[in-house]
Parts: sequence; structure tokens; C-alpha cells
Amino acid sequence: MNFSAAGTLANAMSAPFCNVALPVPLRTTFTYRVPEPLRSSVQPGCRVLVPFRKKSLVGVVVECIEAAPAGARLREIARVVDLLPALTPKLLEFGQWIASYYLAPIGEVFRSMLPPATELSSQREVALSAAGRAMAEELGKKLLLPETGQEELRALVELAKQGKVFSFTGTGKRGFSADLLQRLQRRGLVEIREMTKGRKRRTQRIIAWKGEGASKPGDAENLERVHALLETERGPLPLHQLLKLAHVSRSLVERLIRTGALASWEEPLDPAEDPFDTGYEPPAHTLNPAQESAFGAIRARFELGEFGVQLLHGVTGSGKTEVYLRAVQDALARGKTAIVLVPEIALTLWVGRQCRAWFGAQFEGVVVLHSALSDVERSHAWWRVRHGEARVVVGTRSAVFAPLENLGLIVVDEEQESSYKQEETPRYHGRDVAIVRAKLENAVALLGSATPSLETYHHAREGKYELLTIAGRVASRPLPSVEIISLREEFQQTHKTNPISSALHAGIQECLSNGTQALILINRRGYSWSVLCRSCGASVQCVNCSISMTHHKSRNRLECHYCGSIQQIPKQCPRCHSKYVYFFGEGSEHLEERLRKEFPGARIARLDRDTARTKRQFQETLGAFAGGALDILVGTQMLAKGHDFHRVTLVGVVSADASLSMPDFRAAERTFQLLTQVAGRAGRGDLPGHVLIQTYYPDHYAIQDAVKQDYAAFFERELHFRRVMAYPPFTSLANVIVRDTSLENAIQWSRRLSEYFAPLNNDAVRVLGPAAAPLARLKREHRFQFLLKSKSRVKLARLLSGALAYCDAKEIPQTAILADVDPLSLL
Ligand code: ADP
Ligand code: ZN
Ligand code: ZN
Repeated sequence: MNFSAAGTLANAMSAPFCNVALPVPLRTTFTYRVPEPLRSSVQPGCRVLVPFRKKSLVGVVVECIEAAPAGARLREIARVVDLLPALTPKLLEFGQWIASYYLAPIGEVFRSMLPPATELSSQREVALSAAGRAMAEELGKKLLLPETGQEELRALVELAKQGKVFSFTGTGKRGFSADLLQRLQRRGLVEIREMTKGRKRRTQRIIAWKGEGASKPGDAENLERVHALLETERGPLPLHQLLKLAHVSRSLVERLIRTGALASWEEPLDPAEDPFDTGYEPPAHTLNPAQESAFGAIRARFELGEFGVQLLHGVTGSGKTEVYLRAVQDALARGKTAIVLVPEIALTLWVGRQCRAWFGAQFEGVVVLHSALSDVERSHAWWRVRHGEARVVVGTRSAVFAPLENLGLIVVDEEQESSYKQEETPRYHGRDVAIVRAKLENAVALLGSATPSLETYHHAREGKYELLTIAGRVASRPLPSVEIISLREEFQQTHKTNPISSALHAGIQECLSNGTQALILINRRGYSWSVLCRSCGASVQCVNCSISMTHHKSRNRLECHYCGSIQQIPKQCPRCHSKYVYFFGEGSEHLEERLRKEFPGARIARLDRDTARTKRQFQETLGAFAGGALDILVGTQMLAKGHDFHRVTLVGVVSADASLSMPDFRAAERTFQLLTQVAGRAGRGDLPGHVLIQTYYPDHYAIQDAVKQDYAAFFERELHFRRVMAYPPFTSLANVIVRDTSLENAIQWSRRLSEYFAPLNNDAVRVLGPAAAPLARLKREHRFQFLLKSKSRVKLARLLSGALAYCDAKEIPQTAILADVDPLSLL
């Protein structure tokens, strides 16, 4: 072995300055001086602690530089947080792309990409690697005295003596500097791991059907109930739920586990903590021909070994998940890693469990990442991925930043979902950046949907994406039959405005008699979503926002759904003091009450953001419904997504109109998607499904096409409308909002910005505005809006970055200007 090499690596990277991206709302990086002892540790992608104004901030080193800008008085880096750079070069590049495309401060982009900096208070474990041990042994034999050896050699001998050591960031207690340890790490002599301490494992016991062994004759009846519960639906249930739903005793369950009829395992309440489910066997379906051909195309794409985007367009219940899982499996078998993005946290549970069952043991583990994890959990999961201990990541939007290396596949399930768009800085779209990342990594992006967004389907038809289609449901199950209930006719006949029409009432009654289940969708939560004075017409608005307050009966107060502010229920009109305060617009809370009145014997639950405050409540309600302990589930959008219930024969949509009448060019598309998705929840088992859609606009094409479940027809009509109106996918949009708590400032700044736009407004880029934003006041801020439209994305971007530079020059605060590139909502 050549020991003399020990010192040379220390000089490999030793630039005296570096540029650091800090999590502040400023579109720039900051130059710092790197003190001599830290020079070899500072490299691009590392997090560092630096002084900024009067605070200390954690930032990311973007580049190391030899010369600093002339004349600047630079401050010094205080500490290097990472020994292994948190961000790989690919992720650094990815972050920079996002910052420039979405015009977001680079430091804020990196903050979204990184786990919370829990390392600042955590410990690290340092141990010799096999090579390190061998070298230490050699040294020991040669009786090299520590005093005489170089720093590295001394450290090796010391480490060998001490075994594992815990080292704090910065200068270690035992005399090893971070810098020294890092040099050893780079040479492969030591291993350094982040330790996240103090994590109590909060677990629950899960019971699954196994079906082995003989059981006592006396257990037969109970066994049947347990079997039906665990096998009819998604299977495995937490023990406490099983006991409740199956009405069996704990001792019976224990006995059945011993005889082999049941399997059990501990599962963390939070799936992110779960190494993998060992006991859960996913159903092993053989792919049907349509799935097989889609999968074949994906495999062929992998064979090419190059970037590509595929759209898997499969009707609801066509078995897309099965295809995703095989695609992931194939990527893993090729030595690659994979990310599976799902639109909401609840789905990470289900998809995460399937992935763990498929890949957890066979490959190196699956990690679930989403925003509801605690800082420590997120950081722990994130570092497992960074250390290469997990090769599959399942998660929501931000999981697109998972630090996997050698990425082969990114799946974006339900790619049309608006939850992929982040509505705060950086305002990126998870699906769009997934495609960009796939391109950077030479990977495949697989988008899946029953109702693809107009943009995505357009690209597929133009040949930019490869289109894979599954036209039918699995096992030749029919799509549900869909029927429109015209609320106009209903009113003409009954002269009542009951949100439950006679047809819907009859449908629910039929479910109850047949012992099947009904899902009822309503798209507003609360009891009444408007409070109006009958005498003067004033409505009760939020004090901070230009929006009506929603009445919540059980909490006995009014709430604003935008800012969360609360008001007493007024006894008289705030304007004219009349007593005729009137509540109208029934929300989910009201509907639940009405259903209970109309169907007194039925078991009813409600699922919306008020009842499902915690993940636990959410799972319990869904679990109870899946397990057959409920007859009717009423709720908001939450119900529409992804769930696979087998005993639902009726889906009722109380009103399709609220989403149709939104002041937004995507209103028709959203309505069509929502109706198709929710209809897709019916008839997923052996029983056929029926869907009733109530509306005042029975002739609207979004509703007509949803009834026929004719995506192609809807697409053609909507595409025509977009072309005529010059909306995406034919133009690119950017929404610029000028906002301030002072109306005067907001007006003044909008005027100034319009002076910039006016001479540049032409056919290449159209600038509409300034106008009061549809939400003219939000969270105390007054808002004005400019809408930029252009066929050329490049020209649009140029104008927009020019506008931001202009604002800087005119000293309009950066926080007052909100630029949204490719906005999903124009509110
Ligand atoms: P989608 O996401 O397309 O709506 P899912 O992936 O949820 O559909 O699949 C619907 C149901 O069909 C699931 O219960 C799944 O286990 C089942 N399934 C999937 N593939 C097959 C197959 N080849 N044969 C039988 N059942 C299947
Ligand atoms: Zn009044
Ligand atoms: Zn408000």
C-alpha cells in the first residue's frame, strides 16, 4: 500500500471562495470566503452554515471559485454541514434549471429539494471501512507511532482502537476534524453515516389473510367473517380495526395466527419508517393482453436506454398500477432506480405498501417521502436514499427531488392532478419537472391517467410522447353506466331544491336494500358556503379576503377557507342590521345531516378536510368503508381519487356545477376529469356500477362527454376551444400578481409595471392587465394581475425576466411580485 498518497487529496479542491444559494427570497447567490481549514471540505452540493445579515443560515454551495468580485468585503463560511454533499451534480443542475424556468430564487428551490437540516443537531457515526481496517492493521504491524505519522494515519490507528465513534459536525470531540474525516471517506477508508436519534417507533399490528393450517370447527363462523373482511378488499387491516369490524376477540385472532390462517406483522403508523412489509403478499395478477402490450412498449423503451416520455392512457380500473409496478421491477432488474409520484399522501400509503411487498426484500428497499412526515422522519428517509440504501421512492410532488442515483424511471400517476403544482415558491409542476429530470438522467418518464391533461394528450398525439392505451377494464368489467339528472326538470316537477333528487334518493335506497355501498360526492365542505342578508343583499365576507365565509354548524362559527380566519355567526346583518340573515349553498356537513334524516337506518360517514384532519382519521374512515362497516360515504374531491372499493354500485354527484362555473379556462377540463374519476369508483368489483350526476347544465359538453366516458370526444372539443381562445397547449401562460397589504402600494407598483409592459405588448407576447385579480384580496393583501400569453416560450420567459429585473431596478420589493409560469389557477 502506498501511504504517501494520504496527504495529496487534501489539496484536490481548495478554492478560496464559493457561491452559496441561501433560502431567502432573492434571486441571486452570495459569495463567501472559505477559511483555510475548511477548503478541502467545501464542494458544490454541500450545505454550509453561513452568517447572513444578523442570522446564521444553511445554504448550498453552488460553485467554488478562485477569485472573488473585486472590492467586496466577504464574510466567511462558519461550518460545513455535509460530509457527503447533499446534492449530487445532477440535482444541482436540476435545481438551477427549475430556478431559471420558474424564475424562483435558487436558494428557495434548493430548500424544497433538501430535507430539513436536522443534522445541525444530530450526530454522525464514523467507522473504518474494510479497506480502512486493513490499512490500520498494516500500520499496527509496522508499529508506526501516531506522533510521527501523518494526521490521516494517526486517525486510522485511533479509529481502529476506538471502534465506532460519534462525531459532531465541525471539530470532533476526539480530535478528528470534519475535514480529516472527509478526506478519509473520499479515499474509501472510513464510512460516515448520519444518525437520526431519538426516534420512537410508533407501530401498529397489521393482520392479513394467509389461509393455511386447520382451525377448530367452533371457529368456522368467525373465520368466515374475518376471511371476507381481509380478502374482499385491500386486505390487511390494523388489529384494532379487525377486532371492531369482524366482532371477534383478540384471543381468536392470536389463535388463528398460530394455526396459520392469519399472518401478522408490525407496521409503523407512518409508512416512511417502515423497512418493508414482510407479511403482505400482493395479488399476483398475470397481465392481460392490453397491459402486456403497454408493458412491452415500456420495456422496449428501456432497451433503447435513452430518455423518453410515455403516456399510459388507461380507463379507470384498467389496472395501470400493475403496469407501473412491472415497469419499476424492470428498471430495478436493469440496475436502475425509480421514483413513483402519486397525487396525494393517502395514495403513498397504498402504493408504498405494494412497492414494499414487491421490491422491499428483493431489492434494497423502498422509501416513502411526503410532506406530512416530521422533520426527523423526512431527513432520515432522505438520507437513506442518498446513501443508496433505497432504490425505489414513492411520494408526492417533492419526491421528484429524491436523491437517487442512476435513475431509470419516473412514474407520474394521475398526471392531470392539480396537486402536482406547488402553489408557493418555487411554483413548479411535479409532472413537468419529472420530465426534465428524466431527460437530465437519461431516464424514462411514464405518465399515467384515465383522463390526461389536455397538454399531455396533445403532446402524445403530436408524437412528442409515446401513447400507450388500455381501452377496457380488467377482467372485462364494464364501465359504469352514467345518467344525468337535470336539476331544472327536478325543480319544475317538485318545486323544491333538495340536493338529493328523487332519482338519487331511489338509487341510494336500492343500495341499502341490496347491501351494496354508495359514494356521494359534493364539492364544498362546511354546512353552508354563503351567508347573505335577505334585506340588503350583503354577504358576510372574510376580513382578510374577498371571499364568502363558510358556515360550519358543528363548530358553530364561520370560517374562511382561504386564510382560516374565524367569525361569530352574525345575529343580524353587519351592514343594515336586519335580522334576515340567510344561509345558503349546502356543503358536505349539511348533506350528511340530510342523508341521516332521509335514511335513518343507514351507516353513514363523511370524509372531507374537516373530518379527516389526521391521516389516522382518514385511514379509519376509508378502512371502515372498505371493510363494509359503512353503507354511505359522503365527501369532497378526496373521494374521487384512486381508491379501489369493490362493493360500490352507486356514485352520486350532488352538483357538477360549482366546478363548471369557476372563472377559469380549465373549468370544463376539471369538471370532465372529476366526473370521470369519480364515476370510475363505481363497479370495480364483480357488481356493475351506476353513476348519477346532478346538474343545472345537462347539455354542457363536459358533462355530456363524461356521461359517455368519451375522452377522445371531450379532447377534440376542448382542444378546439383552446385553439380559438389561444390558451395552452397552443400558447404558454404566465401570471404575474402584484400584491401588498397597502392598496396604495399595490396600485402604484402595478402602474409602474404596466409602464414596463406597455411598449412590449405585441403579437409575439400579449400582456393583459393590470386588472383586479379574481381573488382581489387574499390574506390581507390587495392583488392585481397581469396575464402574459405567447406562442413562444422563449419570448415569454425573456419578457418575464425583464419585468422582474425592472421591478428590482425600480425598487419594488421582490415579495410584492409573484410570478407564476404555466399557472394552473388564475385566481
Ligand atoms: P387503475 O389504476 O387503472 O384504475 P388499478 O390498478 O387500481 O386500476 O386496478 C384495478 C383492479 O384490478 C385492482 O383491484 C387490481 O388488483 C386489479 N387487477 C389489475 N391487473 C389485473 C389483472 N391482470 N387481472 C385481474 N385483476 C387485475
Ligand atoms: Zn343587510
Ligand atoms: Zn380569508
